[in-house]
Formats: sequence, C-alpha cells, structure tokens
Amino acid sequence: MTNDELVQGLVDVLGAERVLTDPDVIASYVTDWTGRYRGTTPAVVRPRDRDDVATALRWCRDHRVAVVPQGGNTGLVGDRFPSRARSCCPCGDSITSTTWTSSRRSSTWVPAPPSAVFGSTCGASASTSPSISPRATPPRSAVSSPRTRAGCTCCGMDRCAQVAGVEAVLTDGSIVRTMRGLVKDNTGYDLPGLLTGSEGTLAVVTEVALRLIPDHPYRVVALLGCADLETALAVARRLRHDVSALEALEGFFADGATLVSDSFGVVVPFDPLPPVLLLAEAAGARDPTDQLTAALNDLGDAVTDSAVAVDPAGRKTLWALRDRHTEAIAGQGIAHKLDVTLPPGRLALFEREVRALVGSFEPPSRCFLFGHVGDGNLHVNVVGPDPDDRRVDRAVLELAASMGGSISAEHGIGTAKRDLLALNRSPEERALFRSIRHAFDPAGILNPNVLIAD
Ligand SMILES: Cc1cc2nc3c(=O)[nH]c(=O)nc-3n(C[C@H](O)[C@H](O)[C@H](O)COP(=O)(O)OP(=O)(O)OC[C@H]3O[C@@H](n4cnc5c(N)ncnc54)[C@H](O)[C@@H]3O)c2cc1C
Repeated sequence: MTNDELVQGLVDVLGAERVLTDPDVIASYVTDWTGRYRGTTPAVVRPRDRDDVATALRWCRDHRVAVVPQGGNTGLVGDRFPSRARSCCPCGDSITSTTWTSSRRSSTWVPAPPSAVFGSTCGASASTSPSISPRATPPRSAVSSPRTRAGCTCCGMDRCAQVAGVEAVLTDGSIVRTMRGLVKDNTGYDLPGLLTGSEGTLAVVTEVALRLIPDHPYRVVALLGCADLETALAVARRLRHDVSALEALEGFFADGATLVSDSFGVVVPFDPLPPVLLLAEAAGARDPTDQLTAALNDLGDAVTDSAVAVDPAGRKTLWALRDRHTEAIAGQGIAHKLDVTLPPGRLALFEREVRALVGSFEPPSRCFLFGHVGDGNLHVNVVGPDPDDRRVDRAVLELAASMGGSISAEHGIGTAKRDLLALNRSPEERALFRSIRHAFDPAGILNPNVLIAD
C-alpha cells in the first residue's frame, strides 16, 4: 500500500475532515518539543468520538497499518512518533490523536478525555468542569496522563491513586468500559491499572474517570535552604511526619535556581544561594500556615535559609524557581532528559555519583537535577553530549538501576529506554509483557516501536 492509498482508505471510512495530511499541520504531531525526537507519518486522524476511533483502528488492523496513539505530546521519551525504521507496516504509520473533550461529571470522580491537562482536575471541586488544553505548555508539575502512569506533585501516581475507571477501544473496534467509579471493585483483572502506563500498546483510551482532590482554600509555600541533599531529605521526612496538610515536596539545586533566575528574572530570596533547595506546599480547609511554621521552627540548624509565602503572587514566585527549570534548561541546548526514582536511602548517594559520572563525559557536560524528592524521584538533565549520542543516557540509567532504582519514574519507556528495559525487568517479566501485548493486539499495530525490543 502506498501512502496515498493509506490516506484515501482512512478518508473513505472517516471523512476527509478527520484525516490531516498537510505537512505543516502534521509537523507538531511528529516533533518532540525538546527537538530530540522526530518522526514521519502520512496521516493524523482526529477522531470525533470513540466510534471514529473504532472505525480507524479496525481499518488499520485490516490493512496492517501501525497506529501511534497520541495525547498531549509531552512524554519526551520518543514514545508517540511514528518511525518508519521499525514500523510493522512497510507503507508507513498513522497517528490517532485523542484530543476531544468531555463534560459529564459526578460528585467524586470526573470523566475526562485522555489528554486532559491535570491542573484542571487535580484540585478540582466536584462542580468544576475539566478545562481541556491538550496542546498547552504543561503547568506547574501538574500534567499527567493515564498512558504513562504519571503522577503529579500533589496527587501521587495516576495508576495507584487517580484513575477510577477507563474506556478503551481495542484494535478490532470493540470497546471495553469500566467507568462505574466504585471505590471498591474486586471483580477480576484491574483493566484501568493494566491500561494505565501501557504507552498506547494495548488499546486506545477514549475516556477516563479521575478521582477528584478537594480544592483547598488555604495554601502556604515554604522555600528552604539546606547544606546538602542528605540534610534536605531528612528535613523532607520530618515535614511529612509533622505537617499533615503537606501536599508537595520538591527539590532542586543552586545551579538550576541560578539558571532559572538568570533566564527569566525570577527573584531568588536567598543570597548566597544554599546548595540545595526544598520547596514545600501545605494546603487545607483551614489555614495550615501555623502548622507549617511550627514544624519549620523545630528543624533547627538543618535549614539554613527559609522563605514563606501565603499570598498567590508570593507562592507563584517561589514555585517559579522550581517550575521553570525545564524551560531554562531547554535554553541551554537539547538536553538528555532522564527521569529516575531511587530508594529513599540512596537518593543522596545517587546525586553525588551521577554528578561525577556526567562530569567525566566528553564533550564537557553539565548536569541539572530537580524533582519530586518526596517520592525519591529526580529528573536528570544532561546538556553537552550530542542528542543522538546515547552513552550518557545508558550510563545514568545503569547507575540508577545498580542502586535499586527505576529507570523511568514518570515518563515511561518509549523508544528512548526500550533497549534498557532489561535493567529493571526480568526476562520472565518481559516475556509476560509480550504475551499481554499480543493478547490485546494480535496484529501488532499499536505503537509497535515502544516499550519492548523485538
Ligand atoms: C514540563 C513537564 C513536566 C512534567 N511534570 C510531571 C510531573 O510533575 N509528574 C508526572 O508524573 N509527570 C510529569 N510529566 C510527565 C507527563 O505526565 C507525561 O508527559 C504525560 O503524562 C504524557 O501525557 P500526554 O497526553 O502528553 O501523552 P503523549 O506524550 O501524547 O503520549 C504518551 C504515551 O501514551 C500513549 N497514548 C497517548 N494517548 C493515548 C490514548 N488515548 N490511548 C492509549 N495510549 C495513548 C502514546 O502513544 C505514548 O506512548 C511532565 C512532563 C513535562 C513535559
């Protein structure tokens, strides 16, 4: 089948308005915003609803055309770009973009399209309709997706906590739906759990039920300085224990804060900057400021500097120092973006070792670290090596795995880490992954390049 025949076939079953082929329009679907991953596709399908998804999938399965489901396009692990080189179909892949909206809601959970930006559903009150902004720049650490099993700073991991139900279309066009939103449901396999984090390899998710988190009226943010990460982690442990209203615990370092400040003029409240910065946010139906400041007073010398903000503008400024790391690092070149979790007791050692490791690379490389330290999660950003040179990626991920960590905390495996999955998953587990994948998608058309190497 030629590309023209592929496009015509999709137009025949879906209508021309649902099939995008203009190269300028398609460009944003096949380009990673970091600039590191690029793909090609003859067509992008923009379905109106699940019936369109079913029609498109059936047609692609019958004609053995690979399909790459795509949502907000923020995964950053080369997981949703068609690449001819490993396509299951010699004529090319198509993209199914699932960015439509939904408006139904109930009191404890809200159905949302699979590409909803989480800032609109975390912290949403039951009466709030999700505002959908699928192509927006991710807001403060609050973007998440049921496909990559991601969490956010205030709600924990999707898979564990937030996805109450899911509707998905299988490659034969049939629809599975578990959207009752029950708190307890032990009736066999957990389909939302299985589909969440499957990176578009099992089915196309068309609706999810998300648990709501109350939108607390009172918030307070503290920025704390510490001498080293070990001390900052001890402070984090104390805060988790002492401040029941704690919602977020983020960590970053003086080099990153300086870069953010120099790049965007964000005010840093400390001079000189302490080596490690910890950002804590507490929220509640009652003002948590007293609870947080009492806990801070008990921390003694562990905290060398502190700034507390209760008003929205002050909180936003403190958060900007953490949130704008990604943008500031992007200004330094195409970064190798890695995303690891370590056992809590090994995070500080990892930080020292990864800096030494990256420092030993040629050409001279810089390493910016930040992340959800409350979860043992660090984002490792390396600037310097050629974007296509994977040696530094491998070395960093091998280090994390050798210390008992995960090579993917939030972003998934994609193509970027596909060949390194064995660092975390045994041959038996990988064989099971293949069987599950085959059971859902016997024709092997769904995102064939990601997750498991052939
Ligand atoms: C600046 C920034 C900050 C971030 N902060 C956090 C954070 O604080 N916490 C956190 O947990 N994560 C964070 N992330 C990661 C983020 O959660 C993921 O990038 C996001 O979940 C991916 O969702 P997406 O809709 O963009 O998926 P895409 O990038 O479009 O796709 C991701 C994968 O899901 C598949 N897929 C997409 N749509 C569907 C569908 N409908 N059905 C089946 N499969 C599908 C794709 O094929 C692909 O494999 C951050 C990312 C960025 C860029």
